[in-house]
Parts: sequence; structure tokens; C-alpha cells
Amino acid sequence: MTVVTRFAPSPTGFLHIGGARTALFNWLYAKHTGGKFLLRIEDTDRARSTEPAIAAILDGLSWLGLEWDGDVTYQFARAARHAEVANQMLAQGNAYHCYCSPQELDEMRAAQKAAGKPMRYDGRWRDRDPKDAPAGIKPVVRLKAQQTGQTVIKDAVQSEVTVENAQLDDMILLRADGTPTYMLAVVVDDFDMNVTHVIRGDDHLNNAFRQLQIIKAMGWPEPVYAHIPLIHGADGAKLSKRHGALGVDAYRDMGFLPAALRNYLLRLGWGHGDDEVISTAQAIEWFDLPDVGRSASRFDVAKLTNLNAIYLRETPDAELLPFVLPLLEAKLGHKPDATVLGRITRGLNGVKQRSRTLVEVVDSLMFYTRSGGQTPEDDKARSHGTPENKAMLAKLSAALEAETSNWTEAAIEDAIRRFADANGLKLGQVAQPLRVALTGSTVSPGVFEILAVLGADEAKARLLAAGG
Ligand code: GLU
Repeated sequence: MTVVTRFAPSPTGFLHIGGARTALFNWLYAKHTGGKFLLRIEDTDRARSTEPAIAAILDGLSWLGLEWDGDVTYQFARAARHAEVANQMLAQGNAYHCYCSPQELDEMRAAQKAAGKPMRYDGRWRDRDPKDAPAGIKPVVRLKAQQTGQTVIKDAVQSEVTVENAQLDDMILLRADGTPTYMLAVVVDDFDMNVTHVIRGDDHLNNAFRQLQIIKAMGWPEPVYAHIPLIHGADGAKLSKRHGALGVDAYRDMGFLPAALRNYLLRLGWGHGDDEVISTAQAIEWFDLPDVGRSASRFDVAKLTNLNAIYLRETPDAELLPFVLPLLEAKLGHKPDATVLGRITRGLNGVKQRSRTLVEVVDSLMFYTRSGGQTPEDDKARSHGTPENKAMLAKLSAALEAETSNWTEAAIEDAIRRFADANGLKLGQVAQPLRVALTGSTVSPGVFEILAVLGADEAKARLLAAGG
């Protein structure tokens, strides 16, 4: 049997963190088993489904590297097929027409409430002769649910979960206007798409019992269910905007790498020993449903940030540059020229070692994009602009003249150490004013590295400007 998983978001908002994790688990399980990962957009709620939300979901998945197999299925386009199944169930006696008016249903619920009974449809048209149908009322189609016994789900995460069938009502399959309900559409689509494993949030566990009734009525194979616990905020409360329950696009804009976010989402609810940094290849090898935890996980943006710092450090410059350049370009307002691009390429390694996000990387690279004298960025930097330091930098500039023909990091370091010795200065007394002269900041990669990356001409121009 080929495993087929699916991600089935409703396009009523962006691709949020919980949805992204559901997609990731489905994708990983498909990859782990050599199966297929399908994407279905559940756009049956016409009032709330939007094109921008669909675009955000597709973009978010692509950015995260969770490519789906085959074409996207759009649920709304399959309404006729959903109605066909409802009609088949009618013909088989697994469903029936209900002619209750909305007022009648309101009265029924009010009476149940007054009597302290659970409010649900009481099956009043279940066995009634359709000849009694009132004129002018379009009926809905309801499932003739099992009224006795139990429905058992052998969930791959929650293990065995049982519900008394008496608790399930005769839910609506087709509305009076002929449109399918979500409950029907999901089941029909999963069957038609040959879905073998339904991996989704555990807020859908209750739906699974009702969906199984449709599956059984149709004699279709039961999928393996895996209902994964929801994600909570770092304080343990249900994840909300306050916790950073934002769209995946917001994390992209904050400067997280897709591989880091993938790794972080993987660890939210799934574990492999104490491993924290897990490559995608390892994740595919190791991921399995029994290792998904049963308790809610906590989303902690500080942990994500730490993980991102590790990914920044470990991603080779050539792979990192395509993430850095668009952000840098946006910040500059134009493409960097060849000189600046050369400096960025050479300087990236030093900067990425000290950054936690791509936004920080780009901020820290900005001094490489400028030419000539640097403006001190704050009081701390300004405090280095003393007359003694200016004189020292002018002298240093002259001393470095001799290194022009051998402008390497090692040669520059050697020359600066000699310069400090000769002038009775500690290295820090030279390095810090030098750093401010080169970058405008008191925080940066090592000064020797910066001098080498800038090249002799630009380095001297900055020293001269600061020493003048
Ligand atoms: N469309 C549902 C949602 O976005 C998911 C349905 C399912 O996975 O079965 O929550």
C-alpha cells in the first residue's frame, strides 16, 4: 500500500504555525514511507475563503520547502461529487431528508435546553414518511447515524479513543441549497484522493467519529488517524497572536531560515532522544507517528531564534547568499554593485557567526555597502573620536601603507600588532577606535577581517577620514 497523506487547510487566513507543523508532519510521513503528500484547499466556506489566503498558503508551503505531489485539489470544485455521494447514501438508506424549518429546529433546541438535555437534532424525520413532507420546504439530507454501540478510533497518536454512538446525532450532509457540509466533503475527498493517513490537529478528533460514520456507511476503507496535540504559547495557554501565532510569512520577514523553522516545528510535538538540531534528511529517516507526543507543545520564539542562529552559522555562504541578497537589496533600495557584492560575499562568514536572524545579518553587513568615512552610530561609538585616537588612526594609516602589496588578514594583523607594540598601546586601544572608523559601530566582526574584506584602498579611505 502506498501511503498518501494530505494537508487540507481552509483558506480563511494565513498559513499559521500550527498549520505549518501539520503540513510538515504529513510531508515527513509521506517522505519517510516513500508515499505521496497531497494538498487540498478546503474552500467550501465561500464567505470566508479568500484568494490572498490561498496564495499565502501556497507561498508559505513552498518557502518552507514542503512541496506537494500533483495538482492542488480545490474542495469547492468537487461539490457535485459530494452531492452524488449524499444521494447514494439516500438511495442506500444511510441518509434521509429532513424538512425541519429553522424555527422548528430553534424550538426543538429551546425545549431541550429547558429540559436540561443535550441540544442536538432529535431525528424527527428519520423514520417519517416522506409523503408527510410540507410543501415549499427544501429538505436537507441527514446521515442516518448508528444509534447504538460504539465508534472506536485507533488513533496513531492518541491510541484508542471510543465514543458512544448515542452521543452522535444525525448530522447534515447536504444543505437545503444542495451544497455539501464540511463533514461530508472531507470524507469524500479523502476517499477519492486515496488518502491512507489523516494527520491533523486534535481539534478534529470529534469530527473523526462523525466522519467515520459516513465512511462505514459507504463501505470505504478507514484511514489511519493521527490527531496531533495543538501548540500552546510559552506560558502554556492556547496559542494566540500575543504568543506569536503569526503567519509563516511573518517568520520569513523576521529573518528565520526555512530550514530552521522546519527543524523547530519538527521538535514541537515530536522527538528523537535529546536531538535538537535535526537535518531534513535525518528527519525523513526518523519521523514516525508513534513518536509524536500526546501533550500540547509550547511555541517559544526564543528557542526558534537560538536554533536559527545555529542554522545561520552552519549554512554555507553560497547557500545563505540567496536569502541575504533580497533583504539587503530591499534595505539599500537598489542592487549592490560588483564592489559591494564582493565585500558582502567575503564578509558574510564573519557576520553570520554573530547573528541570530537574517535581519541581523543584513544590518551587520550594512557598513560594507558604504564608502569612505563612517558616521558613528551612537554615543559609545562617538566617544572613540578623541584627538588622540584621530592622531593614532592617521599614524596607523601610514603604517599600513607598507602592507598594500600584501593585503591579507594575517599580514594586516601582524602589522597592527607591531604598530601597537611600537607605540606602547594595547591591541584593544588600537582595535576599538579602528573598528569605529571602519564600521561606525563598536560591535562588528574582527577588525583584521574587516580590513581584508574592504580591500586596501577602501580601508585606507576610512582610516584617513577618521584620522583627519
Ligand atoms: N480544513 C480543516 C482545517 O483547516 C482541516 C480538515 C482536515 O484536516 O480534515 O482545520
